[in-house]
Amino acid sequence: MRPSLANLRFPVERSRGRRYPEPPHPYRNEFQRDRDRIVHSRAFRRLEDKTQVFGAGMSDHFRNRLTHTIEVSQIARTVAAVLELDEDFTEALALAHDIGHPPFAHAGEEELDRLMQAFGDRFEHNLHALRIVETFEQRYARFPGLNLTFEVREGIVKHSRDLEPGTAPELEEYLPGLRPPLEAQLIDLADEIAYNTADLDDGFAAGLFTLEQLAAASPGCARVLEETEMQFPGAPERIRFHEALRRWIDLLVSGLIEGTFTSAMEAGVRDPDEVRAHPQRLAGFNVAALALTRELKQFLHRHVYFTASVMEERRRSRAMLAAVFHHFLDHPEDLPEPHRERMAQQPPHRVVCDYIAGMTDGFLRRTYQRLVAAGA
Ligand code: MG
Repeated sequence: MRPSLANLRFPVERSRGRRYPEPPHPYRNEFQRDRDRIVHSRAFRRLEDKTQVFGAGMSDHFRNRLTHTIEVSQIARTVAAVLELDEDFTEALALAHDIGHPPFAHAGEEELDRLMQAFGDRFEHNLHALRIVETFEQRYARFPGLNLTFEVREGIVKHSRDLEPGTAPELEEYLPGLRPPLEAQLIDLADEIAYNTADLDDGFAAGLFTLEQLAAASPGCARVLEETEMQFPGAPERIRFHEALRRWIDLLVSGLIEGTFTSAMEAGVRDPDEVRAHPQRLAGFNVAALALTRELKQFLHRHVYFTASVMEERRRSRAMLAAVFHHFLDHPEDLPEPHRERMAQQPPHRVVCDYIAGMTDGFLRRTYQRLVAAGA
């Protein structure tokens, strides 16, 4: 039986529309237009020079946040298509899911958040993504931001966690207490599949572990590695790894399709409103995919994320980001004009945080060299 959830698809005709009404386009629906607006935004292009896990310079083949985003989009669209959910809506959300990321990956996000906490404030990349699409992208004469549909903005806010009432005044319009549509619920899991498998791939290419270590730590990986060894006995290790990697991705994607279908059936939800009202998210992995996901995460923590070379790069990145942050607080005259002007309405730490969050890794490094290292 085909695992269709067509009755749970969020129909584009039911969108609550845009903040600033616009005439319809002759041949693109509203979610397709949102997808195109995201692809054409500056924040999207900056993903090219933002670190995923491994910084640029170590290899030309490691993922950056742009290629990671394309992988997430491809996985999420496959799942949406099989389940007969809205593929355009899913794609728009997948392409937007990381546009709020600051430079230097999670190290950058943690550092920016830490710096903001000294002012009783926070930095969170999903909220920053919302501010980008609502305010910072300036490309239209008639409105600020990209004027995306309500559902895509809601998905940006809620794709990785639920929204409780009273979280923040600017979020009250995004239906706190309700789940997002199923298309948005898929994004976080497609993201997990993409980064777990990609980080394994990049970590193996970087020589951070051997296949023996992987097999010893993960029964799910050992099984597949054994199969590929039986099937391709003389094949080079690198090729066997890729044969296995493809099967892990397949197992995880199939597990997401099956897990989501099963939980929707068990919950007995009949339409997108019931998906929203259901007390838990319905998108999820089946048992096999959940087990493999946990094993991969544990392995990556031990053998990739916390290895000495990755940790050292993270430490240097955090220090550089903090130095640039403090420099602009002490020397607001060094901020570009539009950012300096915002200081009339916003506290300085917020303006500096927004400016830095928008930087690519390369731009932050150059800014550090120009303003901090040169004056030291
Ligand atoms: Mg991501």
